[in-house]
Amino acid sequence: MTTTAAESDPRLAHIKESIRTIPGFPKAGILFRDVTTLLLDHKAFKDTTDIFVERYKDMKIDVVVGIEARGFIFGPPIALAIGAKFVPQRKPKKLPGPVVGEEYELEYGTDRIEMHVGAVQPGERCLIVDDLIATGGTLAAGIRLLERVGAEVVECACLIELSDLKGREKLKGKPLFILVDFEGE
Ligand code: AMP
Repeated sequence: MTTTAAESDPRLAHIKESIRTIPGFPKAGILFRDVTTLLLDHKAFKDTTDIFVERYKDMKIDVVVGIEARGFIFGPPIALAIGAKFVPQRKPKKLPGPVVGEEYELEYGTDRIEMHVGAVQPGERCLIVDDLIATGGTLAAGIRLLERVGAEVVECACLIELSDLKGREKLKGKPLFILVDFEGE
């Protein structure tokens, strides 16, 4: 199930316009959706955070989990505003303490995300945040990692969905909340 922020929300058009598209990065054929231009625009960044906070403030979220790297930009302001802790899920060999990890498929090969042991406790209610869902492999691994430690994934939240790639189908029914879709663009 995917929920898109109400299309009538007047803040969304400006948020979408503030995201830059760079064709051919990091390789030919990719349209890279660059959120660093959104961060340069105080209104767009604030409105983005506000929309997420409005949605999650009363959902009894214990933990906001941010996926490396851009989940580290959007996750912490949400966590602070809703009174949750923030936990990073990182690329391999970045975290200094004992970790639990989960592999996921890439177009060629596999990748892995890791989280500190004990950062999330069994039964805690989690929100996973990333900037963008493409094939859904990254978020699906994030969900598996949290469920392995006994946590409850309440929802995934992304600023951008590339809905042509049908990534949400990998989330096995977990709710996905997005602000902007670049379908067919
Ligand atoms: P996926 O696992 O295929 O859903 O890929 C999602 C991850 O890759 C996110 O962490 C994104 O930041 C990054 N990503 C994938 N495709 C793009 C894209 N076209 N533009 C920007 N970031 C992307």
